[in-house]
Parts: sequence; C-alpha cells; structure tokens
Amino acid sequence: MRIIMLGAPGVGKGSQASRIAESFAIPHISTGDLFREQISANTAIGQKVSAFMSQGMLVPDEITIDILAKRLSGRDCQNGFVLDGFPRTLQQAASLDRMLEEMNISIDVVLNISLDDATIVRRITGRRTCPSCGAIYHIDDCPPKENDVCDRCNVALMSRADDSVEIIQKRLQVYYKLSRPLIEYYSGKGRFVHIESAGPIEDTTERVFEALETSLPQSV
Ligand code: ADP
Ligand code: ZN
Repeated sequence: MRIIMLGAPGVGKGSQASRIAESFAIPHISTGDLFREQISANTAIGQKVSAFMSQGMLVPDEITIDILAKRLSGRDCQNGFVLDGFPRTLQQAASLDRMLEEMNISIDVVLNISLDDATIVRRITGRRTCPSCGAIYHIDDCPPKENDVCDRCNVALMSRADDSVEIIQKRLQVYYKLSRPLIEYYSGKGRFVHIESAGPIEDTTERVFEALETSLPQSV
C-alpha cells in the first residue's frame, strides 16, 4: 500500500499516518520528522533547515526532495509506505512522480485530511510530544495519564518550537499558498479521498480505514 497524506499542519495527518503504518506494517515517512532527526543529530542538513522550520517556512525543495529520495530508496519501502508531509509543493510532487516512475511503482491512494483553521490552532497549541518515543498527546483531547509525562517512557513531554500561535499562523499561510494547490494536482489522478478531521481522532481514523479498505490493490 502506497499512500500520500495531504492536509494543513495540525489536521492530524501524523497521528493517522502512524496508525496506518502500524496497521499495514509499512514505514511512516514524515519529512518533518526526518528534518527534526537531522537537527537533533546536529548534522549539516540539520543546521541548514532549522531556521526555516522554526520560522514556519518550508525547507527549500532541493534539500527536501533529496532527503525524501534517500529515504524512499530504503529497502523497507519496497512493500509500501505512507508519506506524511511530502509533497508540500508542486515541484516536490513533480519530483515524486519522477522518482516513482523510475522505481516503477505508483501511489494507491491520496488522502486529503481537512479541518477548519480555528480547530487547527487549538490542536497545535495543545500538542505535546514525547522526545523519547515520539508519542503525540493533546492537553485536553488526549492527555497523558500523569501531567506532562509520557505514559510509555515516563519522560517529560515537550512542545515543538514551531507550535506557537504566531508560527502556526505563518505555517497556515504557507500551506494555503504553496501546498493547497496539491489538492487540484492529485484530484485528477487516481484514487483521491477527502476526509474531514473534526471530532474525535478515533472517528477520523475510522473514516481513514474505510477509505483505505476500498482502495486496497486488487491483488491484496
Ligand atoms: P506540520 O504538518 O504540523 O507542519 P511537519 O513535521 O510535517 O509538521 O513539518 C514541520 C516543518 O518541517 C514544516 O513547517 C517545514 O518547515 C518542514 N517541512 C516538513 N516537510 C516539508 C516539505 N515537504 N517541504 C518543505 N518543508 C517541509
Ligand atoms: Zn514516550
């Protein structure tokens, strides 16, 4: 199963992508996570991308396409993958098309997750993540059992530096200008499904899996 998740920051793409990845035993590829790993390891790429990310801007296409291409060539991607946060520009989408063509594979389904801006801001500002295992919590919607501590790892949860109200506004602007055109790009191609993400996360997950079941390749 090869899946692309589209949607603005904070719609819950990441949470849904993790569940899909687990259920289909395929890698969850998030360019945001790949960049954050580079930043934590203080690599040359990490140093190049951190300023863009902390300001809510996109990382330049060249760097993003390169890191994604390397990840996609991994052996674990042979049986499928779920792309979360890539592509985010039309140029990235065109590059992905070329990569897939070279690999002689195609995307099975594109899921476009949508949510109103006010809810996005509320979700992002309440988001907390575990620096150790990557688990995602929300202070109201999905709180950890103990205040600000990961249920699994018992380490203190963190907020992402780019999850402040000002930076979210910037990320939303960038989304509307550069990423939203991808809806049109993909809606004419293959299987494309819109999923509304308002309401409980579990309900969205249910809609996501319903959509995936009807999109499964015939041979599976
Ligand atoms: P969110 O979807 O909540 O914005 P991500 O972890 O996907 O979170 O992305 C965080 C940041 O990483 C983005 O604001 C951007 O700076 C950078 N980034 C992630 N994916 C891409 C991409 N495909 N192209 C350019 N920049 C990206
Ligand atoms: Zn944890």
